[in-house]
Amino acid sequence: MASSNVIGDYKINLTEEEIDRKFNKERTDIHLVSEDFEGYQTLADGDKKALAHLVKGAYHINDVFLRLDHHKNIELRDLLIQHSKDNPLAAKTLRFFNSFNGVEGLDGIRTEPIELFEGVKGADGRAFYPEGLEFVEFKQVLLKLLDKGEKDKVQKILSNRSVVIRDEVDGLKAIDYIDAYSEEFAKAADEFEKAAKVITNKDFAKYLELQAEAFRVADPEIDCKADLIWAELQDTELELTVGREDYNDRFTPKIFEDEELKTRLAEEMITVQSKDDIEIRVGLVNKRGTDLILSFKEHMKDIAKLMPLQDKYSQAIIDSGELKQTMVDVDLVYLSGDYRALRGSITTAQNLPNDDKLAVIRGGGRRNCYHRQVRMSYDKGRQQKIMEQLVDESLHKYFDKEAEHLFVIGHENGHSLGPDDSYKSGLGVYRHTIEENKANIVSISFIDYYRDRGIIDDEMLKKVYVTWAIRHFLQSKPHETKPHRVADLMELNYFTERGAFSWDEQGKLFVDCDKVSKVAREMLEDLVSIQLSKDAEKAKAFIDKYAIWGERYENIVRVYKELGVKNYKELVHPLATRLLHEITSN
Ligand SMILES: [Zn+2]
Repeated sequence: MASSNVIGDYKINLTEEEIDRKFNKERTDIHLVSEDFEGYQTLADGDKKALAHLVKGAYHINDVFLRLDHHKNIELRDLLIQHSKDNPLAAKTLRFFNSFNGVEGLDGIRTEPIELFEGVKGADGRAFYPEGLEFVEFKQVLLKLLDKGEKDKVQKILSNRSVVIRDEVDGLKAIDYIDAYSEEFAKAADEFEKAAKVITNKDFAKYLELQAEAFRVADPEIDCKADLIWAELQDTELELTVGREDYNDRFTPKIFEDEELKTRLAEEMITVQSKDDIEIRVGLVNKRGTDLILSFKEHMKDIAKLMPLQDKYSQAIIDSGELKQTMVDVDLVYLSGDYRALRGSITTAQNLPNDDKLAVIRGGGRRNCYHRQVRMSYDKGRQQKIMEQLVDESLHKYFDKEAEHLFVIGHENGHSLGPDDSYKSGLGVYRHTIEENKANIVSISFIDYYRDRGIIDDEMLKKVYVTWAIRHFLQSKPHETKPHRVADLMELNYFTERGAFSWDEQGKLFVDCDKVSKVAREMLEDLVSIQLSKDAEKAKAFIDKYAIWGERYENIVRVYKELGVKNYKELVHPLATRLLHEITSN
């Protein structure tokens, strides 16, 4: 067993000791559903078979994600697999690769990414754009195409579903990702079609047939049809989400910082869309958890009317007369693509499709999914130690995971309230930070509405405020590419400035529960007016003002460090592993 750090033409950046330390001491496992799980055992035979096909389909889509994420992901993964048998360092690096689901990633602590191979770095444009493409060149190509009257080509380059490659004639050209990765998509489509034949729920079967078609034919109209049915799936046994989100593309939004290009594209009526990643979630719908979430939903229409400045914009919830929103609490079986790229964080809930999708533009609904196994994985002893050092003792009794879940429900619902995407996209690279900040603050602004109507009690209201406040403890200065974390820092400073949060001389946080609601409504008005302005400069100024790091937060980081950080995650999915056995064993 020779442990060389050179494999093929590449050199592994980490030593065996470093990987052992990260994976043994600094790792938390997230355990997904196992074979003996009751919700699986009680499924009808057809649904059990369908579940196996869905997991296989998701497995194939992971390769599409890897290709979109980095030009070298597949090559280096295969190289690691090849060398794993007789090189322990390669085997350990492969485990790290699988945790990041890629050749590099942030770990949630350091501001620089961990790179598994020397010289192999992530790009702002991931692999959506050609290797080494600079913005200056990108801009020149787009302007030249516009001068030649090639509007369609430019629109295709700026589509959320295209991959851009170099082209001899025009410099760049776009290919729809379905065509670019047709082999992988077809394998997934085969599995979804097989699932459609055996699944017991007829609507779900219809959705699967359309989704399979959407994987075979590069046509957003088919995605739209599939999304419209998917968003209405409420009362089902199984869960499947094909996520397409643009958070990882940091290249396209640079257009909004370039006055000349931005103006020209607007004149030509071209829509600038950041590129979508792909990801799949497979699970089992949990009935009890879903009922709780639905009890919150009933009130969203009334809350929409309480939104600040609500006479200045229209909200889909109020206009359509009904809230087109389904919600499920899910026991997770398998994650693929960006969902399993554990780069410092993992999402606890999600509401799709996003505003840029045809189905939403045409008035279709959304489906909101909560991830039980993710929210339940936390270390109680460690949480207690953190509070002993960082939270006023009188508040310890209010830390509560169920309260955190209620806050997250409010956050997800918050994305459906306020100005729509036609406003938000004007904020360019700052839109996600402002939107996540808004969703948090919608949740906190209106949680007392549920107390006033007897859905939660006074005690639970306090628990939500305090638990939400403690959620803000950052394990490092947030990286600008992490909108949720930047939003957390902004909230810490905003609520501290206005006296809802205070800190004693030992750096312990106190939350004045009587002030939280008022301050939240002030911040919400600030955020909504920034979205209404469509002004990226205003968004930047607000972020610059409140995303201020300081001594107080360094103290939090110090406490976390002393307690040992657990910033690496590994997904353990026993049921999926068995269902995938046929594919992975040959
Ligand atoms: Zn969010």
